[in-house]
Amino acid sequence: MPADCLFCRIIAGEFGAEFVAENEHAVAFRDINPQAPVHLLVVPRQHVSALRDVGNLNDNELRGMLDLSVKAAHAEGIDRGGYRLVTNDGADAGQTVFHLHWHLLGGAKLKNGFA
Ligand code: 5GP
Ligand code: ZN
Repeated sequence: MPADCLFCRIIAGEFGAEFVAENEHAVAFRDINPQAPVHLLVVPRQHVSALRDVGNLNDNELRGMLDLSVKAAHAEGIDRGGYRLVTNDGADAGQTVFHLHWHLLGGAKLKNGFA
């Protein structure tokens, strides 16, 4: 694990962050700057810099992220209304934390459009 990676440190429990949901392969916690009533970050325990390096996750780890996303949406009560998963890869997308994560957004009618 890179010693300076914020999400590795959160996963290691360094800041006492509360996980909304977790499993063997991933954790979900609230974004510090929420863009929707429910805004979670779904993060693999294994350090991978971005989606472009998803090949460094094995099938179980990737499946674990997807399963946890569904579980977290259910736990937050937004699975019936619907929700959105977004990942930013690289500078053009505005990625600021270089540990793969996707944003799980819901709890309101979300705006259309991605750019
Ligand atoms: P990105 O811009 O890389 O797609 O998303 C990074 C996200 O991490 C941002 O939405 C930002 O608000 C969130 N974030 C940055 N620092 C922290 C932190 O210390 N704790 C939490 N919970 N979220 C953070
Ligand atoms: Zn990391």
